[in-house]
Amino acid sequence: MATQSTVKKQAAEAARMDEIIRRLKAVYPHVVCALEWGGQHGGEPAFLLQESWKLLVMGRLSAQCTDARVNIVCKDLFAKFPTVRDMAEGDITEIEDVVRPCGLYRTKAQNIKEACRILVDEHGGIVPDDMDALLALPGVGRKIANLLLGDIYGKGGVVTDTHCIRICGRLGFYPEAVKEPLKVERILTPLIPEAEQSDFCHRIVQFGRDVCAARAPRCGNCPLSDLCRHGKEA
Ligand code: SF4
Repeated sequence: MATQSTVKKQAAEAARMDEIIRRLKAVYPHVVCALEWGGQHGGEPAFLLQESWKLLVMGRLSAQCTDARVNIVCKDLFAKFPTVRDMAEGDITEIEDVVRPCGLYRTKAQNIKEACRILVDEHGGIVPDDMDALLALPGVGRKIANLLLGDIYGKGGVVTDTHCIRICGRLGFYPEAVKEPLKVERILTPLIPEAEQSDFCHRIVQFGRDVCAARAPRCGNCPLSDLCRHGKEA
């Protein structure tokens, strides 16, 4: 059972997170996914469903690769394979050739072709609205699954990408040495209201690019500096 001081501490952390969310919203009022899959600015539900496979493919390609590179590669990839069925039936060496600049290209090509085949055969070509079904797709882990559930279906889910893990560690929600996505997801999920989780993660990516960069955070120019524990005594 949680002690009174633990409960107080959790309430204080939730309040600190609320203020961080409020300030990030003020800086980034419009939420945009860094992956340019077509629905990054939102859209009609039918359009988002029809294009959902593209976000899955881009999420898979983004492992150990920058979003910018994935965006460039996928212009070519989606021009060659414009539908989920085209991708499912695509020639594997052709897919490999296109995705090669994203690294781990053989595994990634195999994963996206097979995932698209399962989408076509078992889900009507649409990304499923279910964590377990998503995790059953090759190459899909909780990070991509949460991204898809948030952006396609408007559900909660903390997308623990490299920016999120780095910045929330610096902010002091856990020790900066913690890098395990699942551990970070478990710590952050109760602190961020479900309706805010998806948008928070998109904003934190943008914030990581603009202010809290990996190598040179601009702490002197940061709207969260008074709420941040980076470089401060615990
Ligand atoms: S104060 Fe520095 S480390 Fe903390 S969030 Fe801002 S830029 Fe990042």
